[in-house]
Amino acid sequence: MALGIFAGLIALWLGSDKVDELGELILTPKGDRINTGAEFVVAWVKPFGDIFINALKLIAVPLIIASLIKGVTDLKDLSRLSSLGGRTIGLYLITTSVAVFLGLGIALIVKPGKYINPDGRDTLIAAYADDASGKIEEANKQKSRGPLQPLVDLVPENLTEAAANNRNMLQVITFALFFGVGLLLVPPEQSKPVKDFFDSLNEIVLKLIDLIMLAAPVGVFALMASMVVQTPSMSVFWALLVYFVCVSSGLAIMVFVFYPALVLIFLRRGYAWFFRGLSPAQFLAFSTSSSAATLPVTMERVEEHLGVDEEVASFVLPIGATVNMDGTSLYQGVAAVFICQAFDVTLSVSTVIGIALTCILASIGTAAVPSAGVVMLVVVLGQIPTENNLDLVPAVALILALDRLLDMMRTVVNVTSDATVSMLVAKSVGMLGEPHPEEWDDYYHHK
Ligand code: ASP
Repeated sequence: MALGIFAGLIALWLGSDKVDELGELILTPKGDRINTGAEFVVAWVKPFGDIFINALKLIAVPLIIASLIKGVTDLKDLSRLSSLGGRTIGLYLITTSVAVFLGLGIALIVKPGKYINPDGRDTLIAAYADDASGKIEEANKQKSRGPLQPLVDLVPENLTEAAANNRNMLQVITFALFFGVGLLLVPPEQSKPVKDFFDSLNEIVLKLIDLIMLAAPVGVFALMASMVVQTPSMSVFWALLVYFVCVSSGLAIMVFVFYPALVLIFLRRGYAWFFRGLSPAQFLAFSTSSSAATLPVTMERVEEHLGVDEEVASFVLPIGATVNMDGTSLYQGVAAVFICQAFDVTLSVSTVIGIALTCILASIGTAAVPSAGVVMLVVVLGQIPTENNLDLVPAVALILALDRLLDMMRTVVNVTSDATVSMLVAKSVGMLGEPHPEEWDDYYHHK
């Protein structure tokens, strides 16, 4: 898969006009490059990436339902369910809070909003205002109508509707947990046929995932190729460079320092071992920008290579893919501060605390699909005190140019966090296996 990504990037870079005509790129009003190479890729290569993503999304809902029902019923009693649930949610909240405060800290110290010149700002706003209005409309549809609406939203009135567009995964999770609890409460002789059905459904879904993954090299290549040709122009990139560096260095600290440190300190497992086990899921997260689409692979890697017992993984990971978004919350924190600085909004202590809290909540509510984080950013910006007169359309338009790239990067963080927490939870309940013998070198490496 890594080879697919690498080959795709090199081939497209060399074959594109980027090398020949650097500086003279033909741009759409939105800053996208247009050339025959790009059009060819969009028409003939991108569809293979779309097929691959569609197949992964297709399998996400059956996987969540089957694995969660199996996960809950394997626990055998409700007290184990609540203890596992408590640890999972607690750890998810801790890692998300660390991410938000790291993002806010970087943005408040570096002040990326002060580096954007007014011309660059106005050009970006003019180019992306339409897209921004679209995102704001989407966010308004999702905004809660009352303080308890998020709670109401947890319970679907119709399961097929909840599962319909991959956006209501939380409702699907509620249903699966509820169904699993029902199964636990029924005497074993009555629940056995249904439990056997879901156990076997789970095995079948896992087999289908193996089949889909056979197409991963082609799918990842196609996704990366279409991403490269749709990358915004360099001038847009320069205008947002400091902002980009702030977000990406925060994300890099999470992936390369924070999670491996947790693994090393609490689990006594080495750096290389962790990345060797998880990297295929991280690459897939990067190329699909979707934690939900990556979930099948995250599960496989965590169970087969990082030693997490199936019982824990099938409970912790589907929930994590849906509610635990450290990368998204870090990104939302930096983006909100950047926007405030760029539009001269006063960042009082209470405004910053408000941003931090809404980032944590907004990331929980963010759907595990591409670009969802920016929709929830609108909700974060919405709570900035009205006396600042922050206009949402230019605010969101300012950061949209780089959103696709940052989405890929933050999704890697989201997935890495889910995997790390699943290992910590497994360890805490004595269900983290030992590494395979051939991995012992890495395992003992740090000792
Ligand atoms: N794409 C992210 C994910 O699926 C969500 C986001 O931040 O947009 O994890």
